[in-house]
Amino acid sequence: MQFYSNIPYTLKKSRKRRKTISLQIGDKSELIITAPYFTPISEINRFVQEKQNWIHKAIQKHKEELIKSKAKEYIPGERFYYLGESFPLEAFFEQNEREGLFFWDNHFYLNAPDVPAKKREYFIRWYKRKAKEYFTARVDFYSREFNLRAKSVRITSAEKRWGSCSEKDNLSFSFRLIMAPPAVIDYVVVHELMHIKEKSHSSRFWQLMESAMPQYKLHRRWFKENNHKFVL
Ligand SMILES: [Zn+2]
Repeated sequence: MQFYSNIPYTLKKSRKRRKTISLQIGDKSELIITAPYFTPISEINRFVQEKQNWIHKAIQKHKEELIKSKAKEYIPGERFYYLGESFPLEAFFEQNEREGLFFWDNHFYLNAPDVPAKKREYFIRWYKRKAKEYFTARVDFYSREFNLRAKSVRITSAEKRWGSCSEKDNLSFSFRLIMAPPAVIDYVVVHELMHIKEKSHSSRFWQLMESAMPQYKLHRRWFKENNHKFVL
């Protein structure tokens, strides 16, 4: 009997000695199938067919999360990340009080007119200020620990690039990184500091990383799986 799939997918054929077909949902909510090299397409399609309920649910969930993480509305109860934890927002507009974003007792308080762009701006300003304080302190800490000198610490608005180290050892970090857990921030800080010794991602670089922070791979993985949370 001929089976074919009604769900589009990307097929990756594995030359490794893998014995089973596996599936995952990619960054763009697409279905990715990994199968042993010589698996007939009909068998893969049958596999997709059998799992279609699960697949539809997983894709739907992924899409919803994607949308949720992208479109912040800055409304009461919405949660925002800070140092790896999310905290609820209290949003209001009190004209006689100072406008802006305040963080107190595990809540964000936003006093601003009901204009999303304005509210977003207050969040970014607050995150940037916290990022500057926090990253500077962590760079100082690890500079002493590893006896490395960074020229300066700058905060950027980069969306994909969490940190960088220039030719002249000026370090930059995206303000979005302040939303990540402290251990992950430390990974990025140590990573950029190690670029003072070795500019490229050579094997020497990863050796330096390994000895400076033996569990760095864990943090790097966390990053790949969670960076969708850092959208404002
Ligand atoms: Zn790097």
